[in-house]
This record gives sequence, C-alpha cells and structure tokens, in this order.
Amino acid sequence: MSTRIAFIGLGNMGGPMAANLVKAGYTVSGYDPSPQAQEQATQNGIAVAASPAEAATDAEVVFTMLPAGDHVLDVYLGRRGTEPVIGTAPAGALLIDCSTIAVQDARAAATAAREAGYRAVDAPVSGGVQGAAAGTLTFMVGSSEEDFGTVRTLLEPMAGRVVPCGETGSGQAAKICNNMILGISMIAVSEAFVLGERLGLTHQALFDVASTASGQCWSLTSNCPVPGPVPTSPANRDYAPGFASPLMAKDLGLAMKAADATLTDTKLGQMAANLYRDFAFGDGRDLDFSAIIAQIREEPIEGMGR
Ligand code: NAD
Repeated sequence: MSTRIAFIGLGNMGGPMAANLVKAGYTVSGYDPSPQAQEQATQNGIAVAASPAEAATDAEVVFTMLPAGDHVLDVYLGRRGTEPVIGTAPAGALLIDCSTIAVQDARAAATAAREAGYRAVDAPVSGGVQGAAAGTLTFMVGSSEEDFGTVRTLLEPMAGRVVPCGETGSGQAAKICNNMILGISMIAVSEAFVLGERLGLTHQALFDVASTASGQCWSLTSNCPVPGPVPTSPANRDYAPGFASPLMAKDLGLAMKAADATLTDTKLGQMAANLYRDFAFGDGRDLDFSAIIAQIREEPIEGMGR
C-alpha cells in the first residue's frame, strides 16, 4: 500500500487515528505543534514534519483532526502566516477533515480546496478516544458520490462504520443533529432520575421500566447518569469521561449556530446548549456529560461520590 498520507493534528483523537493508518501499511507524515503529540507520533511510526505544509508536500491524502473550524481554515489557507496546505499539497490531492466544526466552516474549507483543484470531504466522527484507539469510530461522510468509495477505503483502518450523509458539509450536519438529540436526551433522562428519586423510586426500578419501554435511549441504556444499572457507564467511575462535558457544550454550540443560520426554532436544543455551556465552564469541566445530573439535583459535585 503506497498511498502517502499527511495527518495534521495528532492529539487525543488524531494521534491514535494516524497510528492505525500506519498499522494498516500507509506511509504517514504528520504535524502537531505539541511536543508531547510529536513524541507519541514518532513512537507510532509517523514521520513528524515541521509544519502542516511540509507534512502535505508529497501527500495524496491530507487528513485534519483539529479543535475547531478556525484551525482547519488556518491550516488549509495559511491564514496565520504559515504556509498553506492548499497550494502546497500535490494537485488533485484528497483533503479529508475529520474535526467537528461548523457546517459553514466545512463548506468554506471545501470550496477553497475545490477552487484550487483539490477534492474535499468532511468526515467527523463519533466513538471518542477509545474508538480512535480501537479503530472502531463511526465516520459521517459529506462527499461527492464519486469520492465516497476512495474515502471509505481510506477510513477503513480507523472505522467501525462509515456512513455516507450526502454532499460536502452533510457529515458535519449529521454529527451536530445527532449530538443535539444526545444532549437533550441526557438532560431528559437525568431529570427523570431526579424526579424518580424524589418520588421514592429506586434507580434500578426506573431503569428496568424505561430501558424496555418508550423512554429507551442511548443516554439511558449505555451512558446511564446514575451508578448501578449500567456498570460500564461513567457514573460508576466518578463521571470520568467518556464524552467530556466541554465537547458536548461545543457540539451544541455548533448546532445552535446552524439553527440560527437556517432560522430553525430548536427550543430544547437551545436550553440544552445553555445548560451544558454553564456546566462545562463550571463543575463539569473535567467530567462526563452525564454528570449534568448533579446540576439538575442542585447538589455539589462532591455529593456524587468524588
Ligand atoms: P485535542 O485537543 O486532543 O487535539 C487537537 C490537536 O490539534 C492538539 O494536539 C493540538 O496541538 C493540535 N493543533 C492545534 N492547532 C494546530 C495546527 N494549526 N496544526 C496542527 N495541529 C494543531 O482534541 P481531540 O480530542 O483530538 O479532538 C479533535 C477533534 O475531534 C475536535 O474537533 C473534537 O471536537 C473532535 N472529536 C473529539 C472526540 C473526543 O472524544 N475527544 C470525539 C469526537 C470528535
């Protein structure tokens, strides 16, 4: 397998994703400004470059896994004085952005890439750091039909599932719509447990009913916000993430940006975004998003066994 891949952004997600591409036999050059990320990447067989553009010089495929849309646009366009990937990577290269960013930013990045003669795809993920390490991420792909087959093959070493979502930007759209459901449903499940507690209902009794009835959802059956009913949920390990509250706050912020742009009235989405923003900047900073139940109980986080 001789495809040359550049991987820009070798953090908690990008690091293990790039490592899985190396394990699959690809030649991977990478860039990350963090010395720690560079050291880990070198140990994983990635040739660490001095800049994003240097990593992309000979690449046929350029992955990005960066914190936000501004970082992706900076790397693509060289807006901060660094040499841009667009114009440096060989003509016709395939640019695949796996970061979670605003739909508008994804479309702007793809348009700039296409205008310069590249192919551009958005492929955000769910599955977290465990999924990145295990190579079992779900990818939500926004691409042309023509590019999808190639993209699927490239993602395969990192993926459990690869879902085609439509044209460019659709991967990001699917990701934020899904996570808006997730944020709202976690609040709904947490409110139900707190109400149940005050009505004298045990956690197990509510779980036994709702998990097999119409209240069933992932927030209840996989990421249950109270300890006990689902032994693997973060509630059983003092709410260590898991899916950290600041990431949920970020994704709900992106969903609300998209709702504004499309004049969509998402009342519950807005409430969830507000609750998670406050929680992520406060007690929930280092905790799984299911710890929001403490805020609903109006109990200090210490009351949760920490
Ligand atoms: P992270 O902060 O661990 O990694 C981001 C990396 O990008 C850092 O190592 C940082 O040094 C690097 N970086 C910043 N600016 C750069 C630049 N200009 N060029 C190259 N590298 C640069 O974050 P993460 O958890 O790996 O998340 C990455 C993306 O994946 C985010 O968009 C996040 O929303 C998304 N995501 C994360 C998770 C998760 O569980 N962590 C799950 C799904 C999606």
